[in-house]
Amino acid sequence: MNFLHRRADRLHLEEVPLARLAEAYGTPLYAYSAAALSAAYQALDQALAPVPHRICYAVKANPNLAVLRHFARLGAGFDIVSGGELARVLAAGADPGRVVFSGVGKSRTEMRAALEAGIHCFNVESEAELARLDLVAGELGRAAPVSLRVNPDVDAKTHPYISTGLRQNKFGIPIEDAPRLYRAAAGLAHVRVVGLDCHIGSQLTDLAPMADAADRVLALADRLAQEGMPLEHIDLGGGLGIRYRDETPPNAAAYGALLAGRMQGRRETLLVEPGRYLVGNAGVLLTRVEYIKRGAERTFVIVDAAMNDLLRPALYDAWHAIEPVELRPERTPVPCDVVGPVCETSDFLGRERVLAAAEGDLLAILSAGAYGMSMSSTYNSRPRPAEVMVTGNEIRLIRERDSIASLMAGEWLPD
Ligand SMILES: *Cc1c(COP(=O)(O)O)cnc(C)c1O
Repeated sequence: MNFLHRRADRLHLEEVPLARLAEAYGTPLYAYSAAALSAAYQALDQALAPVPHRICYAVKANPNLAVLRHFARLGAGFDIVSGGELARVLAAGADPGRVVFSGVGKSRTEMRAALEAGIHCFNVESEAELARLDLVAGELGRAAPVSLRVNPDVDAKTHPYISTGLRQNKFGIPIEDAPRLYRAAAGLAHVRVVGLDCHIGSQLTDLAPMADAADRVLALADRLAQEGMPLEHIDLGGGLGIRYRDETPPNAAAYGALLAGRMQGRRETLLVEPGRYLVGNAGVLLTRVEYIKRGAERTFVIVDAAMNDLLRPALYDAWHAIEPVELRPERTPVPCDVVGPVCETSDFLGRERVLAAAEGDLLAILSAGAYGMSMSSTYNSRPRPAEVMVTGNEIRLIRERDSIASLMAGEWLPD
């Protein structure tokens, strides 16, 4: 189903014309389709239905409280990477017993908060972290539930900045070291080994590396069981890609069938940690054209959104479709770069595009639901955008635009 569509030349998100959103809330503005969030979740949930499973939404993709609550109500668990994300999940009313905590640099404070909340599992990424977690849990008189995140050394064939499963990456424990660390963990007084985890990268468009990683992880789980360390769950991470341009990622059914096929007949529960797949194509970033600038070599469409609002093009040279909210067939499209007002050459949202844009027009930057708002900043002292959620023809403001005052809050002029 398509939640973004044209009706009489005008782009709509579900039943709402995007132009109406821009008029009501201003630009730049992030808008998400609740139905698209549900559809993505349910497609994956159904694909995994043959085996006991839990979908732990990776909060960092889009941590808005309303998005978290939406997934909590659908039955999701959560994958967090910081104490801040834990606080968000709790504020959204989610069950901490469905939270897994990933990341290479968990602080004592974060460990304590997660232990006190009673999370499902820590995905431990190093020997040093395991030792510290044992100490912190001991101080609280608890046993920390633990998975080791192993690095299966497979090439996820994605952008190098978002590949995490190779030997040279900072993530996880080399898979050949895992049995020794599991034995060590089993001997710790304040750690309870419950699972095994991996996550090989993001925006994966090929099933083969996921299959390889799953096979290596499951072989390790079998070996641990033979050594008397049976596990309760296997967490195969996130990373399922989406279509931004012409990628052909596996759909939820194919991905789910691959994982469920491998888990069939096993005793462990399957966990997955999708982020981008659940939210990426559910969101758009709306922006208005400020100026058309005809440079010596090319035309610049200068818009009111910038790299601080959507960093992916500047950070990864990522490609997002950019479409006029209203089609104007009478105009002639011209080659152009779509750029923001920030003082950096890397401040572009799309290069080498062909658009018939004019001052005052609205543009929609598509597939902006994941790693859009969550990576935004206030660089150049620009207020971060507002966010709205659309359900049918209903519109809900789910985050106010930053005020200029909020940008200066907490700063002091010393005497
Ligand atoms: C970022 C991340 C995810 C989610 O990745 P997506 O590509 O958005 O699915 C899952 N697990 C871990 C440990 C992560 O760091």
